[in-house]
Amino acid sequence: MDIRFDGKRALVTGAGKGIGREIAGLLARCGARVIALSRTQADLDSLRAEINCETIAADLADASAAREAAVRAGRVDLLVNNAGISIPQPFLDTTVEAFDRTMAVNVRAAFLVTQVVARGMIERGKGGAIVNVSSQASMVALADHTAYCASKGALDQLTRMMALELGPHQIRVNAVNPTVTLTPMGEMAWGDPAKSGPMLAKIPLRRFAKPKDVAHAVAYLLSDQADMIHGAMLPIDGGFLAT
Ligand code: NAP
Repeated sequence: MDIRFDGKRALVTGAGKGIGREIAGLLARCGARVIALSRTQADLDSLRAEINCETIAADLADASAAREAAVRAGRVDLLVNNAGISIPQPFLDTTVEAFDRTMAVNVRAAFLVTQVVARGMIERGKGGAIVNVSSQASMVALADHTAYCASKGALDQLTRMMALELGPHQIRVNAVNPTVTLTPMGEMAWGDPAKSGPMLAKIPLRRFAKPKDVAHAVAYLLSDQADMIHGAMLPIDGGFLAT
């Protein structure tokens, strides 16, 4: 099976680091014209040195900036809502600021960017494909991850709503739900062996995901080979959610 995106424009949010950067690289290697959106300009500059892409620097926590960035992206055939943050705090100590920022980046930005992109897809009448990068944290409670788990649960439900209302326009929408993935975010939240050990013990494959494990699944879901897969949440979790 050869996945190709020649002639397609792919917007990837949070493309500066980690999973988003890996997705941007893979989609470019599969022939897509990548538009990399992220917050830190230096990350975008270094990405542009690695792959042939367009870049947009924007803070997706800001609703107007998120909309404007999506408009600046121009024609988008494939969208990956990947940008996300995690601010680990125990439930009783979770602050309003951390909760609101987490929801703004992990849920509201995906909602706003998709509204802009989907309107363009509908106008052109040729459909499209969207993948939201959710988490295993959407389906289970994880200690110290109240805002994060709530945001990913909301993102799964947003995915279903997008699938329901965009499907008739031949815009396919799915989510991927990775386990702990070895990125700057993964290191920050799970780098302490006291936390990573018990988590690894709950993963039947006994390993964390690599960014490329997630990127491969995203590329498949974006591709025509997945053209009847719609409204799905795909765990990439070494079996964590099966136990
Ligand atoms: P990461 O290493 O922290 O990278 C996240 C990227 O998103 C960075 O380039 C970051 O830019 C960008 N970003 C964050 N907030 C942004 C904002 N407000 N505006 C624009 N860009 C923003 O995280 P990751 O591990 O690759 O995570 C990517 C996605 O996978 C997230 O949705 C995350 O929830 C999900 N996920 C991660 C794991 C894991 O264990 N790593 C597991 C399951 C799901 P700056 O650094 O410049 O802010």
